[in-house]
Amino acid sequence: MPQPQGFNTRAIHVGQAPDPVTGATIPPLYLSTTYTQPALGQHLGYEYGRNDNPTRQALEEALASLEEGIGAVTYASGMAASDAVLRTLQPGDRVVASDDLYGGVYRLLERVYRPQGIATTYVDALNADALKTALKETAPRLVWIESPSNPLLKVIDIAHVGSLCRQYGATLVVDNTFASPFNQTPLTLGADIVVHSTTKYIGGHSDVMGGAVVVKDRALYETLRFIRNAAGATLGPFEAWLTLRGLKTLGLRMRQHAENAAQVAEFLAHHPLVETVYYPAFQGELTQRQMKTPGGMVSFRLKVDAQRSAYEVVKLVLDRFRLFSLAESLGGVESLVGHPATMTHAALSPQERAQRGILDTVIRLSVGIEDVNDLLTDLAQALNGALPT
Ligand SMILES: *Cc1c(COP(=O)(O)O)cnc(C)c1O
Repeated sequence: MPQPQGFNTRAIHVGQAPDPVTGATIPPLYLSTTYTQPALGQHLGYEYGRNDNPTRQALEEALASLEEGIGAVTYASGMAASDAVLRTLQPGDRVVASDDLYGGVYRLLERVYRPQGIATTYVDALNADALKTALKETAPRLVWIESPSNPLLKVIDIAHVGSLCRQYGATLVVDNTFASPFNQTPLTLGADIVVHSTTKYIGGHSDVMGGAVVVKDRALYETLRFIRNAAGATLGPFEAWLTLRGLKTLGLRMRQHAENAAQVAEFLAHHPLVETVYYPAFQGELTQRQMKTPGGMVSFRLKVDAQRSAYEVVKLVLDRFRLFSLAESLGGVESLVGHPATMTHAALSPQERAQRGILDTVIRLSVGIEDVNDLLTDLAQALNGALPT
């Protein structure tokens, strides 16, 4: 069958042909950890579950297609996927990372890899000069960015960073979790490696953890498969099956997330308790050029007056939400609200947060696919109830 072109068609069909034995239309959930060999020295492509599993393989083929890579390797979580990429480094290698990195990746770089002799330099990836200086001065093996970033949703010019990396011989890693492959495919923009927490938009229902690395180089793909088998951070078959089930509706969901988020961002921009809205579409031409839609994440900063502390106002607002759940994570069909300073970014010191602009008054929304009027009603009552009297 020729490779189908459309995103949704690929999400639904690539790697997912009907089962040749039974005709099952949906890829079966293969739980077997071992595979019977017809004769000594022969096998049918599968030997042991840590390395290969047909259900996991179906997911990996679909993900590789959606990210326009030559192969995907899946893991037990997004952090295991990030760790697998860092395991390709040697002591003495350097990393350059954007300064508003996902907190867990920052912790991994600082607490696990730095003590092993792999040091990271952090730069504001929006500042091309700072990035160039860091590349020149530290000659990193890897450059690690996220776009849009967390929680301020800064859009980084992936093609530009990619060309700088090529110039200085660095490998570019893009964490594509916030955008999802529906909105952008970094491998086609000059990235070498895409990392995902499939726990978020790809799984899409807040009920399955997982991670993936997608690459366009065959040798790197083989290295990652070797590391996964050697280190063992494999994605379980049931998790693979659930993630694949979620993946089929990724395009449909992302459209609705984007539609709802656009209305939420517009509403927030006009609310008297809101100081600033952080939303990719409000950052100009690059978002339009790089992303199919601005995505489903919206962050904002509350206005505070001298009468009340930032914490007081934030707590008042957060405790009033009814439909948005106060919870970590993102990318599910249900809307979530979070407080980066005390939740996702609590591992950073107050100074580190201040440097990165993650003030105590910043609130992050993962806008779900509920009826948007219900979301706007909930937001309005939460914010209106906290207006100064
Ligand atoms: C959640 C997340 C991760 C980590 O993924 P887990 O599946 O939670 O291990 C990495 N990067 C980003 C951008 C994330 O949002």
